[in-house]
Formats: sequence, C-alpha cells, structure tokens
Amino acid sequence: MARDPKYDILFEPVKIGPVTAPNRFYQVPHCNTLGHGRPSAEAANRRIKAEGGWGAICTQEIEIHPTSDVTPFVEGRLWDDRDIPQHRLMTDAVHEHGALAGIELLHSGFHASNLYSRVAPMAPSAIMATGIRPVQARAMNKRDIADFRRWHVDAAQRAKRAGYDIVYVYAGHDLSVLQHFMKPAYNQRTDEYGGSLENRVRLTREILIDTKEAVGDQCAIAFRFATDELNGPLGLQVSGESQDIVGMLAELPDLWDVNISDWSNDSSTARFEPNEGYQEPYTAFVKSMTSKPVVGVGRFTSADTMVSQIRRGVLDLIGAARPSIADPYLPRKIDEGRIEDIRECIGCNICVAQDNMAAPIRCTQNPTQGEEWKQGWHPESIEAAASDDAVLVVGAGPAGLECALQLANRGYPVALAEASETLGGRVVHESSLPGMSSYLRVRDYRESQLRRNENVEIYLDNKLAAQDIIDLEIPHVILATGSHWRRDGVGRSHRFAIDGIDQVEVFTPDDVFASAEIGGRVLIYDDDYYYMGSTLAELFRGRGQEVCLLTPESKVAIWTEYTLEQEKVQSRLLDLDVEIVVSRVITRLEPNTAHVESSMRGRNELSFDSILMVTSRSVDDELYQELLKFNDRFKTLRAIGDCHAPGTVAAAVYDGHATARQLESDQDVYAPLFRREIPAIDQDSQG
Ligand code: ADP
Ligand code: SF4
Repeated sequence: MARDPKYDILFEPVKIGPVTAPNRFYQVPHCNTLGHGRPSAEAANRRIKAEGGWGAICTQEIEIHPTSDVTPFVEGRLWDDRDIPQHRLMTDAVHEHGALAGIELLHSGFHASNLYSRVAPMAPSAIMATGIRPVQARAMNKRDIADFRRWHVDAAQRAKRAGYDIVYVYAGHDLSVLQHFMKPAYNQRTDEYGGSLENRVRLTREILIDTKEAVGDQCAIAFRFATDELNGPLGLQVSGESQDIVGMLAELPDLWDVNISDWSNDSSTARFEPNEGYQEPYTAFVKSMTSKPVVGVGRFTSADTMVSQIRRGVLDLIGAARPSIADPYLPRKIDEGRIEDIRECIGCNICVAQDNMAAPIRCTQNPTQGEEWKQGWHPESIEAAASDDAVLVVGAGPAGLECALQLANRGYPVALAEASETLGGRVVHESSLPGMSSYLRVRDYRESQLRRNENVEIYLDNKLAAQDIIDLEIPHVILATGSHWRRDGVGRSHRFAIDGIDQVEVFTPDDVFASAEIGGRVLIYDDDYYYMGSTLAELFRGRGQEVCLLTPESKVAIWTEYTLEQEKVQSRLLDLDVEIVVSRVITRLEPNTAHVESSMRGRNELSFDSILMVTSRSVDDELYQELLKFNDRFKTLRAIGDCHAPGTVAAAVYDGHATARQLESDQDVYAPLFRREIPAIDQDSQG
C-alpha cells in the first residue's frame, strides 16, 4: 500500500549542519548493554532500525576515557584507537541502509563508578559520588579541565574516523560532567567555572566549540540537553535557568536534542505518563530560541501525533528510543501505509530494567530485540515452515498469541483454542488495573495480525481437555495455559504454607479479576515485588477501602527500581494514604490478624478484614502433565509461557516466539545454542 499523503511531512529530509537526515525519524541515543562487550550484536541491533527506515541511528552513551568507566554497565567505549573498529561495524551497518550514524560521547564525571579503571571519580567540586558507594569524587582542577577538553576532542576525532555523521555533546540525565558543572548543587567552584550561570555553562560552551572545530567540517554537532529535571530548584528547570542556557548556546550546536531528566522522567512508564508527547510542556520552548533543528522524545507511536508535533512547531525530528525498540520498522510501516502493523511500545520499561541490571536488552513487545545477531532473529521475517503439519496452540495469553502468530507467519496451519471468550489471557485482567491499560497492546497487536492471517483458525470459548486434544490428531501441540496465584502464601519468603493460613479466608489477584467480594480493610502481602501488589493497593484505595501493603523487602515494589518506577510507586501510595509496612514477614495468621516479624524490630500484629496474597504463582499445566502420558502420539508436545515457568509478560511473549522459531528445527528447545562474542586473546601480551 502507498503512504497516506498526510504523513509525507515525516519523510522530508532535514539538514543538520554538514549532513542531511533522509527523513524526520530519529533514533536518539539509548542504552542496550550490547556495547563494547558485544559489538557485533550492537551493530546488528542498530542495522535493523536503519533498515526499518529510521533516518538517524545513534549509539548508547560512549565512555570517552577511563576516568569515565561505567563498569559493570556495558555501554560503548572510545578510550583509544583500538576501539575504532568496533564502531566501524555499527556505522557501516547503518550507512548501508542510507541512515546517519550518531555517537553520544560522554564523560560521566562523578556518576562513573570507575570500578574497572580504579581511578577516583571527578566532579566540579569535591562531593559524594552518586548511589551508595563509599566514595567521594575529587574536584577537577584546571589541568583536569584541560585534560577533559582534550579527551573529548580526541574522542570526537576518533568518532569521525569511525564514520559517524553526528557527534554529541551531552548534558543530560544527571549523568554528564557538563550538566554537573551547570548545577549549583554539584558546582561550588569559585573560579571562572563556578558561580554565575555564564561560568557554570563555560565548560559546555568550550566543549561545543572544541568539538565543532575538531570535526564540524564533516560531522554535525548535536547537543543533548535536559531542559528540566522535575526536581524543583535542586535541578535545572524551564522556569529557572534552562531558558537562559538555551539562549546562551542557541546557535552553537547543529542540532538540539532536548528531553527531561533524570532517566526516570525521560523514560517514564505508561503507568506514570500514559500519554504520548508528555515532554512537550518542558521542551516546546526550545524551537523558538534557535534556528537549528530540534529533536525530542515522548514515546511517540502514532503517526498523527508525530505530524502534529512537526506542524505545531514543537519538534523538527521525531525522536524515539522505546518506540524504535518495540518496532524497528515503525517508519517503514508508516511509509508503506501499514499503520495497523505497527507494534506499539507499551511503556513497561522492561528494556530499561535490563540495562539497569547490566544485562543485554529485551523488550516485551519485540521478542527479537537483542537477538538479532545472537540468534539471527529478525523482527519482520521468520524461517518458512519445515513441513505442512498442523499445529495446535492451547491458550491465547501473551505466550499462545505470539506463538500462534509466528507459526502462522512461518506458514504452518494453526488452530488456536482459548477457554474464555476473549483473547489475551493475563493482560486482559492486568490491563484493568490502575495505570496498566497499555498492556492491552500486547494482545491488540497480535490479535489484529492473527485475524488477518489466513493460516490461523481461532476457537474462542473452547476449553480443551486432554482427550479432545488426542482426538484432534494434530501432530504438534503447544500448551500455553498460564498460571494462577497461590493462596497459601508460598513465595520467596515462605517456602512452606504460612502458619495458620488454612484458618483464614485468603484472596489472590485472580479473585480480584473474578470480581470476588473483598471488603473492609485489605491487607496485601507483596512477596512478588513487581507491579501486582501496588496496583492492587491503588485499586482498593480507589474503591474507598482502607489498604495496608505489607512486604518482606525494604521498599515497596522493590523490583520496580529497575523499571525506574519505585519512587513514583511509593509516592503514589503515600498520596493515596495506603499504609506501607516494609521489612516484615508474616509468621502466623489468624482470622483478622497477621502476626508479623522483622529481624530488627521484633514482632507485632496487623489487623485486616480481607487478606490478599501476592506471593507466587502455580503453573496451570494439568493438561500438559496428562498429555505427557501420550507423548508418543505427538511430534511436538510443549508447555510454554507461564504454564512452563511463571514470569513477566515479556518472558511469556519471548517463549512463544522462541517456540515458534524452534518448531521442527534442530535447536534444543530448553538450551538453544546461540552465537557469543568471544574476546580475542592478545598474543603479544601472553605470560
Ligand atoms: P501466558 O502469560 O503464558 O500467555 P496466560 O495466563 O496469560 O498465560 O494465558 C493462558 C490462557 O490459556 C488463558 O487465556 C486461559 O483462558 C487459557 N487456557 C487455560 N487452559 C485452557 C484450556 N484447557 N483450553 C483452552 N484454553 C485454556
Ligand atoms: Fe516499550 Fe516495554 Fe519494549 Fe521497552 S520493553 S520498548 S517500554 S514495550
């Protein structure tokens, strides 16, 4: 199909200094923890986005020097010339598809742990390092400042030699020494780099000029700047000094890349920022202050919203990190008039969590993310079926839907049977919780693809028993029948049922989804640590009930630290007057009373009218176990997703996808062999 002319504006070229972006789709720098440890995977990951139509593709943050070593995080490195060939892999891959390659040079200052290089972190003034490390940063002296300027120029020249078209100067996310110099909270210097705003911006100005002089003949200079840190006067603010900073530097860079800081605000989840374009109130002013193009982000997945951003003069280029992760082919789908094929980001931050755990990227919506080189997976194509055999998929949650879709894409005739009257499984229920509606996109994308795929027959309201399946005589059977929450309190903190639990009426999230009467003061026991406990707390407070959230961990929803949500979850619960009790386990239950214990403060009791266990889940694999007795009747019999091992929605989608790829292949389904990047041994330095 042809592109709708109303989207033509998105495909106009944009001149950025000495280079020209072929269109307005701009993948801003984002981490993927492939980086210097996995350069081939990094190049393949970025290549597919260029292939998918993004006009500019940027790296993740690139350490310019060992004094800015972010170990254990595996981002990019350009410490010396030996790093250049790695970068060539990426720039060549991107150029092959006609896109520009951008590099985000970074000195992290006192944010760098330097755990590998073992040098003391540096900051504008002598202040405590970020995080909880027992380390103080040393104040940069004039020689350090001169060194830093030289390192940045060296890195920019290496970037140019590596083939980059856009070179970044970076002052964002509270991660960069340039931003640290701008902030009075970190910069208490009394020389020409401290005090007045002009002094605090001096180093940024110098770096912008240095970089332009060094590589500006050939490369565009982008300036990534956080206009607001949503931290009141403690951070940069649009209503404070940000507008002055933009005014002072307006024409120095070739491109303004603007966002809000820190990362938790920039990459806010849909739970806390449900709308596209949520950064506009903080970044829209920039265009009126510079003649240079402006790129910004806001989890844009709608082509109409993108057009509106351009037409209203908010942005010149549509920046995206997460939308390009969820759908590397987003621009191409708009170009080809295939809007309904766009796999929209759900704003869950599983991608971010991987980076925060120093692990390679993954994505809930796009299970091929991070697997492009490692397993040779492509988000838009899949190997043809190995036979004409039919496949039965039982259960249409995230795992079953993805598996059925990819099997159908391979060309297998697929029957998808679902017990309930709707597709989607757990995401139908979970998306009804406060802030979770975007999770329905996991179902909606797959349902719309399946409905248009003639290889699939969908059978709703079809609960299959083992004998039904045997009678169907379908050679390949995939069971994706899900899981349910345990009622006995067993989880991480209790390996056996909680004492006295059989004396008490206990509810689980499944009862909430089945609309059970759960009245009065609700005690939620969260031994799960992700979103379920806290979203349920919001739900019951919304109904006007008293709620206490009790967790064995030291913070509520502690795993959401990785998705950058924990502080926001906590604030929201406090705003809603949810009673929060941390670091306590239940030792014994009796009607209306939970006896709890902490290692530090002894024992006490919590009252309740209803108690809800969010501890762990049991697999619903009865069907699988029954069918295993007839294993020889099937060529394939597999349990996948939550009925194999309960986990995240992302894990279920991945398992469905991997299973579809592996059907009738020689891969060992439980331990697939994948490509690894093995470091070369330096023969000269043996011994
Ligand atoms: P996952 O996250 O692994 O995809 P879900 O719990 O989301 O798991 O989905 C499991 C789906 O399987 C649910 O929609 C459920 O109704 C369906 N299901 C469970 N047992 C059967 C069965 N015997 N026949 C058909 N569908 C089933
Ligand atoms: Fe979007 Fe979630 Fe994928 Fe990240 S993991 S790109 S937030 S869908």
